[in-house]
Amino acid sequence: MELDSLDCMTSSDVIDDDEILSHSHHQFPSLSKPHGNGDYSNSVVSSAVHPSTTSVHELLECPVCANSMYPPIHQCHSGHTLCSTCKTKAHNQCPTCRQELGDIRCLALEKVAESLELPCKYVTLGCPEILPYYSKLRHESICIFRPHNCPYAGSECSVVGDIPFLVAHLRDDHKVDMHSGCTFNHRYVKSNPQEVENATWMLTVFHCFGQYFCLHFEAFQLGMIPVYMAFLRFMGDEIEARNYSYSLEVGGNGRKIIWEGTPRSIRDSHRKVRDSHDGLIIERNMALLFSGGERKELKLRVMGRIWKEQQNPEGGVCIPTLCS
Ligand SMILES: [Zn+2]
Ligand SMILES: [Zn+2]
Ligand SMILES: [Zn+2]
Ligand SMILES: [Zn+2]
Repeated sequence: MELDSLDCMTSSDVIDDDEILSHSHHQFPSLSKPHGNGDYSNSVVSSAVHPSTTSVHELLECPVCANSMYPPIHQCHSGHTLCSTCKTKAHNQCPTCRQELGDIRCLALEKVAESLELPCKYVTLGCPEILPYYSKLRHESICIFRPHNCPYAGSECSVVGDIPFLVAHLRDDHKVDMHSGCTFNHRYVKSNPQEVENATWMLTVFHCFGQYFCLHFEAFQLGMIPVYMAFLRFMGDEIEARNYSYSLEVGGNGRKIIWEGTPRSIRDSHRKVRDSHDGLIIERNMALLFSGGERKELKLRVMGRIWKEQQNPEGGVCIPTLCS
């Protein structure tokens, strides 16, 4: 669990890089690896493209990690190729022959790759795109058919999949509470609110409008100030998330704060949303004021509502046929 946010302002970029990288390493759980080489598209390639393309394609697969290789492609003195990620990890020793690796580019292979056109690796998930080799990776990092990462916060969960798969995974493997309906009323109680480091975070999944939403509630240090934060994420893509809004209301003791926002897509990591402060943030002192009592116990009541935005021109969302 990562509640230490002291480095949060600087780490979001790093996390994003990891996420893009991880797409090429994690397998979609419901798919097996054809031929054990981690490539979903092989069968399509061999039937749709000239047979010689298949073997070139195999040459472009890193023999160490089985991912597709992109420039700079490296090789050892004996000609064993490897990708740049594996080269960094190899500590100057060829993973295939154990000889010194050196710093040799394999330009011929890089040039051959330029001439290839291949299907998106999410072809089995419905993506129809055929792409030049060098734009394939870029497309796959934003392909709307790519699986989603598990939205569970603070864990190193590497599970990926489509939304129904992830909902079942959250319920069964992370024991996340599931609620139906578009309103909620949650109480968060903590007996020792002085220890923000040990404060818990919570995830609840809501099912409404035929969609799933993740409500996150957690405690962390914002600079020197201990805070609680609640925010909603949409289980789906950004473009769909914009069709929804939500409000959160917290208060007590004659005071209240209301937050209204648009849920963020789970394409944005939990950490990224948290670090952008895109949600209801309550300083601990105020949270204790809301809790009443002797400031010994945190008792927060968070009420919320999710609604679907009217898709009309006034609302800022254009329906193409109505926009002249
Ligand atoms: Zn590799
Ligand atoms: Zn070698
Ligand atoms: Zn695609
Ligand atoms: Zn998970």
